[in-house]
Amino acid sequence: MYQALYRKWRPKTFDEVVGQEHITEILKKQVLTDRPSHAYLFTGTRGTGKTTCAKLLAKAVNCLNPVGGNPCNQCEICRGIDSGAILDVTEMDAASNNGVDDVRAIRDEAVYAPVAARRRVYIIDEVHMLSKAAFNALLKTIEEPPEHLIFILATTELYKVPATILSRCQRYSFHRVPPELIRTRLLQVAQAEGLELDEEAAGLLSRLADGALRDALSLLDQCSGAKIDRERVLSAIGLAENDEICRLLEALQRGDSDSALEILDSLYQAGKDVASVLEQLASLHRDLLLRFVAPGSGGALMSGGYGDGTLEQLARNTDVGSLLAALDVLEEADAALDRSSDRRLCAELCLVRLCGLKPAAYIPAPQPAARVPAPAPETAPQPAPAAERETAPPAPQPAEPVQPEEDPAAPEVSWEAILNRLEDSLFMGDYVMLSDQANVTGKQEGEMLLLTARNDAALQTMEQNLDLIRSAAEKLAGRPVPVRVQAAEGVGGDRFAAVNDLFSQFGFKEEK
Ligand SMILES: [Zn+2]
Repeated sequence: MYQALYRKWRPKTFDEVVGQEHITEILKKQVLTDRPSHAYLFTGTRGTGKTTCAKLLAKAVNCLNPVGGNPCNQCEICRGIDSGAILDVTEMDAASNNGVDDVRAIRDEAVYAPVAARRRVYIIDEVHMLSKAAFNALLKTIEEPPEHLIFILATTELYKVPATILSRCQRYSFHRVPPELIRTRLLQVAQAEGLELDEEAAGLLSRLADGALRDALSLLDQCSGAKIDRERVLSAIGLAENDEICRLLEALQRGDSDSALEILDSLYQAGKDVASVLEQLASLHRDLLLRFVAPGSGGALMSGGYGDGTLEQLARNTDVGSLLAALDVLEEADAALDRSSDRRLCAELCLVRLCGLKPAAYIPAPQPAARVPAPAPETAPQPAPAAERETAPPAPQPAEPVQPEEDPAAPEVSWEAILNRLEDSLFMGDYVMLSDQANVTGKQEGEMLLLTARNDAALQTMEQNLDLIRSAAEKLAGRPVPVRVQAAEGVGGDRFAAVNDLFSQFGFKEEK
């Protein structure tokens, strides 16, 4: 019988668990010193190794010859637990056994000494699914556990576990496995299994798995049966429609609702769910947004479902403002789909709305090369984007802005001058931070003042004081000066800070 790859390659020792060393090292130590806790809580997203580690721990604390804290997998106890012959280790899925009776049965049994092994171990998966009464029954057992008893609770939803339980457990949070580690593991497994997996496909699979090694191996399974390259992955996993999704976005960008609805219809006729069409469309928008706001570090965050050339092409016809607005529309539609009695109509309406979103409806994202000078607001106190938005002509790029190379009338607004002006109004700590060139540098680019944060703290401080900085610049220049904050390349790149900056530039309210 064929055994799924993720089962076959499930780690047999703590050392084989990928990406959770911060947990496995501690567990091994507890086994080595024979001082395990009575109650563990393993949390983290699916497929990161919670149940695997629970089973390993159950074996290791009972193993006759543990090896450096790992179960030996050879003694009669290890083998008995693996085969299910030893009943002292019990696994329960709270998703299907969530009643108080299920837990009471455990409680009644738990007081008895184990039969074959040294310790009774109860593994309760998805523990957050237990009913309130069941949690109470469990709590009584965890409060005063007999010496031989160990509970290992696992959950993907920590916040649903009562505090009374939390406080009695040693808590370990499993991290998403970084794509790089998943990629390496996939290549190892593929080689051992004789699967032809190329580097690009491995990279794509590792990103699609979203931190879950188990999912990555399942995806690899799905693709096996032929040489596994990028195309194979895309077709096996049903991402081949990505081309269609790109065509759909092109139609939306043209405002061509005819073609957009036609493409949706053909995907629908081919058996595709409308929700997943919108989901893929959102994912494509997200990839494009990352290209704009995190050109340096964004690559690693992208879905990987689209080629670079395709994204570049699509990016030419959009901007950050439209992308954010489109994502809003898509998110609303996604929520509405669940309630809607006519899902298809709901998706169609969403596409029609997206057709109405054109870059012209928003202020174009600042392009370093061509800057459209504000239409000389003179004394208007709030010449804000809002006013411009209403009167802006549909064409976002009015040919070449007629702008003298050096405008002698435009006063110099240097970062230093702004700092001088702000010395008294900024908090002392912020002032010291901002005035150090190692943290922030400023330069004028055309009309705009471009501030570059050299580290995360500087970025944050600038964000917090952006209003002050803007108004100081305005006072110095005698007119509003566009101030743009960006993170230097290589800076940890809090991309949300970058997005928030853009939010405020476009006059959106930052959402927390
Ligand atoms: Zn053993």
